[in-house]
Amino acid sequence: MRSRIVFGMGKTKEIAQETRRLGQRALIISTPGQSALAEMAADLLGDLAVGIHAKAKMHVPVSVAQAGEAAAREVRADVLVATGGGSTIGLAKAIALRLDLPILAVPTTYAGSEMTPIWGMTEGGMKRTGRDDRVLPATVLYDPALTYALPIHTSIVSGMNAIAHCVEALYSETANPLTTLMAEQGIAALGRALPVLREEPNNAGARSDALYGAWLAGSVLGAVGMALHHKLCHTLGGTFNLPHAETHAIVLPHAFAYNRAAAPDASRRAAVALGVEDAPRALFDMLGTLGAPFALRDIGMPEAGLEDVVSLALTNPYYNPAPLDADRLRALLRNAWEGRPPEA
Ligand code: NAD
Repeated sequence: MRSRIVFGMGKTKEIAQETRRLGQRALIISTPGQSALAEMAADLLGDLAVGIHAKAKMHVPVSVAQAGEAAAREVRADVLVATGGGSTIGLAKAIALRLDLPILAVPTTYAGSEMTPIWGMTEGGMKRTGRDDRVLPATVLYDPALTYALPIHTSIVSGMNAIAHCVEALYSETANPLTTLMAEQGIAALGRALPVLREEPNNAGARSDALYGAWLAGSVLGAVGMALHHKLCHTLGGTFNLPHAETHAIVLPHAFAYNRAAAPDASRRAAVALGVEDAPRALFDMLGTLGAPFALRDIGMPEAGLEDVVSLALTNPYYNPAPLDADRLRALLRNAWEGRPPEA
């Protein structure tokens, strides 16, 4: 199953015609913080909108998923319109998984969930994920204009999150020439856009480039398997409730450095895409120049939890180019926790 994609500045104006292709009774989903966007979508949808459910939360707690399902049943929704980032799209996916409803996703961050058939839910400090074609949005409407409102800090870390999908796609076990091309283009687009956005958050070209990069990143995330970096972030996010995009931004240089020698072609391709010599080091330096956090301890990671992350990373590990070694993982996490540069 593939999604229909509508991409372009101002394309939100086509939301009603896109929704009508999928259903007649739309429940609009957002986080509480983006209820104004949900209301704007409701205005544009007119009679097609049967409700707004502005209760999405990061990592989709099971109780939030159940409340979303009840809201969709109550208004007899036949389509879900998810306006927001990965948390909003994640809630729509959780509802779609239960009720088999089509999703129109209108992403406003660079997280990439809109392009994947992957759902996730958290309960009791553990995150469960799975793949199911029912949760892949039927239509994705990318409008860079909606990302102007994304605070610059969130834009930067969310962009680094997207770069992480591309990096791991380059050394994925299931990579193919097309996903490699997309990953390279994604890194290049985001690598170009983020420094411009830092200076000029409303630069139209850079906002378009960043969302284009995010589209590519989400596409490869949905198409090929991820590795150590995603396993670590999944554990850190699910178990310690750390902010998703910040966690990805901080861990990426370290996980990439861990794999650098075992994945020389991926390292070279990422370096060329970024126009640098050493891609993991350049990504670490970008965190500094772009004003992103670079220490896990600064985003709420308890030092005492590091050893649990090592054990969890070694339990049901994902494929990874470099063998998983407890001492190397410990050193990786220690560097990321303290905010030191990645291993040379
Ligand atoms: P998010 O959706 O939690 O958004 C972060 C914050 O930014 C929220 O408060 C949101 O309301 C606000 N926001 C979003 N867009 C905005 C905009 N344009 N203007 C102003 N405020 C805006 O964060 P995220 O990083 O997009 O998503 C993280 C979640 O997505 C995690 O739970 C992660 O696991 C999940 N995710 C899932 C997949 C998948 O394939 N299933 C892929 C990527 C991420």
